[in-house]
Amino acid sequence: MEIKKCARCGNFFETVNDVCNGCIPKDNKDVGKLKNFLNGYGYLAENMTRGEVSVNTGITLRNLNRFLQWNDFKAYNIPENLNIIVGEDVVIENVNNVGKNIKGNKKVLEKI
Ligand SMILES: [Zn+2]
Repeated sequence: MEIKKCARCGNFFETVNDVCNGCIPKDNKDVGKLKNFLNGYGYLAENMTRGEVSVNTGITLRNLNRFLQWNDFKAYNIPENLNIIVGEDVVIENVNNVGKNIKGNKKVLEKI
């Protein structure tokens, strides 16, 4: 086993996990909340920012960003920001494309 820094509390510990033993129950609780939230909202959750999901679930943005990289949540594309000012070379398309690269490598940055 290797020495790692806990992704929640920052303590160093020996493990194969991302978080220390003390934080595993907290992670499990947050993941349960996130699953319930996403099951309730389904893909409508993609119309929210990560900040809004964080406020609604009580999960910190840092932990939320970590969970959303997990396979369990890979199906969801929850953008970090829907309200960025749009420049002239930015295409606005369907809200479901927010944050994704579309034609010509232009990014969809605003909710319409
Ligand atoms: Zn910890």
